[in-house]
Amino acid sequence: MSNIDSILANFKNTALHPGRMAAKWKEETGRKVVGCLPIHNVEELVHAAGMLPVGLWGGQTTITRANEYLPAFACSIMKAVMEFSMTGVYRDLDAVISPSTCDTMRCIPLMMRLAVPELPVLGLVLPDNRKNESAINYLAAEYKKLAVALEEISGQPVTDHGLQQSIEIYNDHRRAMNSFLEAAADHCEVITPYYRHMVIKSSFFVPREVHTEWLLELTAELKKLPQSTWQGQRVVVTGIMAEPYALLKMFEKFNLAIVGDDLAQGSRQFRTEAPGGTDPYLRLANKFAQFEGCSCVHDPYKLRGRIIADLVEKQQADGVVVLMMKFCDPEEYDYPFVKQDLDKAGIPSVYVEIEQQMESMEQIRTRLQAFSEILAARR
Ligand code: SF4
Repeated sequence: MSNIDSILANFKNTALHPGRMAAKWKEETGRKVVGCLPIHNVEELVHAAGMLPVGLWGGQTTITRANEYLPAFACSIMKAVMEFSMTGVYRDLDAVISPSTCDTMRCIPLMMRLAVPELPVLGLVLPDNRKNESAINYLAAEYKKLAVALEEISGQPVTDHGLQQSIEIYNDHRRAMNSFLEAAADHCEVITPYYRHMVIKSSFFVPREVHTEWLLELTAELKKLPQSTWQGQRVVVTGIMAEPYALLKMFEKFNLAIVGDDLAQGSRQFRTEAPGGTDPYLRLANKFAQFEGCSCVHDPYKLRGRIIADLVEKQQADGVVVLMMKFCDPEEYDYPFVKQDLDKAGIPSVYVEIEQQMESMEQIRTRLQAFSEILAARR
């Protein structure tokens, strides 16, 4: 096994066994674990309180109980979250933070408290009109309240100095992740869509400083490789997430390499750093204010399509695959604007509807195969 293979195996093992990673961390450190629901959470606060933040999205399951709380038209991500809550999968969590990401998620804190009364669920209400001074001050105050609640759970005070350090650790990780993603796009024959996803997803289950070290090691190994021999099509993906895993294997089967992403579970987590400043809470609130291009934040200028078009140009991609999470209102509302901008820029795109739990993927198979052939014919 080459060094790169063994590094990738470690990322994969971490991404596929989040429960095991959390339990191991608790056993080794004696500290607590907090589940962070998507999308705009503040893991830095959990880190500063001496606990391990763990991302709660993704993972396949059969829905048997979640429908007791959620309507049939709720997205499969939140259905899986409720299912996991109700079937004891989150038993090692000491708390959950649930931001008001979308209409579905606004109800999640209440439902989780009803479904799993023993699990503390901390709600986080994000401002819609997020860029003006009062919204930034409001969010900084919300973060402070959250920090106090986290202190009570962990028993460790969140000091300004500690939070500043945590913010820097997360900013370092964002830079390391972006360097990795650049190197990965230069070596599509090694970093397949599946392994690209494993590297990103594993970051949600280990301390960020540890993950940064792993990323730096992998990126250094990639940079030693000879020039890529990749002959297939290069695409950018956009949406909430690139799962189920069988979907990623389909990209590989049809010679589609992912050379850039605008995924909520991917680059949207890493492309905006917390700006500098002496007040750490204002730094975090300003980061949310400065973030652009997500269906779950208010954007009167609809910049997302142009952000994706710029990424396509930068990565010399051949086209865009829109991964539409079924029943995700924010993504569905954004799609016409994104499509319009891609068409205007002459960028081919394909729309595929996905769910976390999918019984059949035949439609997706047909669409991806046809798209790959179209892109190949345009070369
Ligand atoms: S997938 Fe869409 S609807 Fe579901 S929680 Fe995320 S933003 Fe909300």
